Amino acid sequence: MCDFLWINFKRKSVLIKLLTKVLFVFLLFFCLLFAYIFVDLKGPEPDPYTSPTTINDITQLNSIEVDRVITPTSIEDIVTAIKTTSGPISIGGGRYSQGGQTAYPDSLHLDMRAFNKVLNLDVAQKQITVQSGITWRDLQEVIDPQNLSVKIMQTYANFTIGGSLSVNVHGRYIGEGPIIRSVESIKLVTADGEIKDASATENSEMFYSAIGGYGGIAVIAEVTLNLVDNVKVKRVTQKMTLHEYAEYFSNNIRNDESIVFHNADIYPPNFMDIRSVSWIKTDEELTIKQRLIAKNKDYTWQPKLAEFVADSNFGKWLRQYVLEPVLYSFDAVQWRNYEASYDVNELEPKSRRTHTYALREYFVPVESFDRFAIEMADIFKRHNANIINVSVRHALPDSGSLLAWARTEVFAFVVYYRQGISNGAQQEVKLWSQEMINAAIAEQGAYYLPYQLNATTEQFMNAYPNYQQFFELKQKVDPNYRFRNKLWQQHFEVYKNAISDLKYE
Ligand SMILES: Cc1cc2nc3c(=O)[nH]c(=O)nc-3n(C[C@H](O)[C@H](O)[C@H](O)COP(=O)(O)OP(=O)(O)OC[C@H]3O[C@@H](n4cnc5c(N)ncnc54)[C@H](O)[C@@H]3O)c2cc1C
Repeated sequence: MCDFLWINFKRKSVLIKLLTKVLFVFLLFFCLLFAYIFVDLKGPEPDPYTSPTTINDITQLNSIEVDRVITPTSIEDIVTAIKTTSGPISIGGGRYSQGGQTAYPDSLHLDMRAFNKVLNLDVAQKQITVQSGITWRDLQEVIDPQNLSVKIMQTYANFTIGGSLSVNVHGRYIGEGPIIRSVESIKLVTADGEIKDASATENSEMFYSAIGGYGGIAVIAEVTLNLVDNVKVKRVTQKMTLHEYAEYFSNNIRNDESIVFHNADIYPPNFMDIRSVSWIKTDEELTIKQRLIAKNKDYTWQPKLAEFVADSNFGKWLRQYVLEPVLYSFDAVQWRNYEASYDVNELEPKSRRTHTYALREYFVPVESFDRFAIEMADIFKRHNANIINVSVRHALPDSGSLLAWARTEVFAFVVYYRQGISNGAQQEVKLWSQEMINAAIAEQGAYYLPYQLNATTEQFMNAYPNYQQFFELKQKVDPNYRFRNKLWQQHFEVYKNAISDLKYE
């Protein structure tokens, strides 16, 4: 009996020792993880010096020296800038596009960010008219007290309305699509300095080309947008395999009018699991009382978490199996405007000196979801691309813009990734992005134009089949080729030269 008790006691103490050790290892691991994410060991990096005539974008990969920068505050300033000069003009909003779309060497650069007044808010009609340099976040400040919301915008609120229209952006809204679907009318300043109103019924050619026209047709000066009611929304998430998603979306999400926002995150590095995240209209009590995310919110840990996920497959595993399940286990009920007021600072790394974070986006018809997703996973794995997240969104067809990326109902694959900045690293990214574009084109889809300019002109023409109509119109309304940037240098100049070669043959 004594022996039995003694052996049992010994066993128990061995077990306790073992458990203590395991607990210690876990504690050590989480302390290290905590230190890695929260403690800034190297201190902040000094801001690199840039001259006011150096235009760059958030990736810091596209530095372009312009001749002069002006910051219009009235529509007359824009008219005067165009009428009193004769050289190339480039236009910049928030500068979040990532391939030189906002600048051209030695051009006169219109920095639109101070052209940012609200001109009219019609609460009864639910419409707002603004100068195009205003950001979503500043616009939200004005409409939120009226309990109104932006109908269609991106996930983040830092972008200007002019930059958003010129790219014809989209968000996570169900039953919506490209932003053009929410635009009532625009006021343009043309290449000869004339002011022109445009809408779906007035100067419609200009309307359908300036929206999605990447600053190549005219300056978008004023914009009238349709608004909707601000409502309370509740988060609902569900994890599933990649192959279950398209059917799940069609049965549960597509036609559910109570869903406001929806996206689904595909988890790297295997790209076989996906989490659907929907925000549904609700009357439940708010878990977050704030109406908008504070402009000066501190984002110390979020970028470090993204860095941690990017650093290793272990980080990616931890995100999928530990961090997100914990995050999503909490209820979230908040205002639509709160969910639409994210700040890109939550992503901004401490440094972009050796590597940078960037986006890509591909659009395919809804029926191509599975095929394209498999092809995408294969391309990323073969190239060992460091993908942090692939967010799937849905869009109904475009209402008629010439450079529409949603010619039919599409799924968008928004790819957030990390890359080196060396020439070699950029070449490697170019290889996978061209393969991704081919995969999208093979499905009659498109790639998104605000990102790095890795597409060939042939790929551009295949992805945007109305390019010829767009370029013909550009030649008509901008005969001296004043509105320029790196995107149009890459594709329009090739087209223009080919046309003039034909004329002289
Ligand atoms: C972190 C991040 C998240 C993003 N999320 C989304 C998303 O959810 N959905 C989405 O669709 N896109 C998304 N994007 C892409 C983004 O919407 C575009 O890059 C958009 O153009 C940014 O607006 P901006 O004010 O910075 O425009 P800019 O980059 O300054 O300009 C973009 C283009 O518009 C032209 N332009 C700007 N203002 C005017 C004007 N007034 N008149 C004529 N032309 C003008 C410029 O010449 C340029 O060609 C994201 C980008 C980042 C970096």
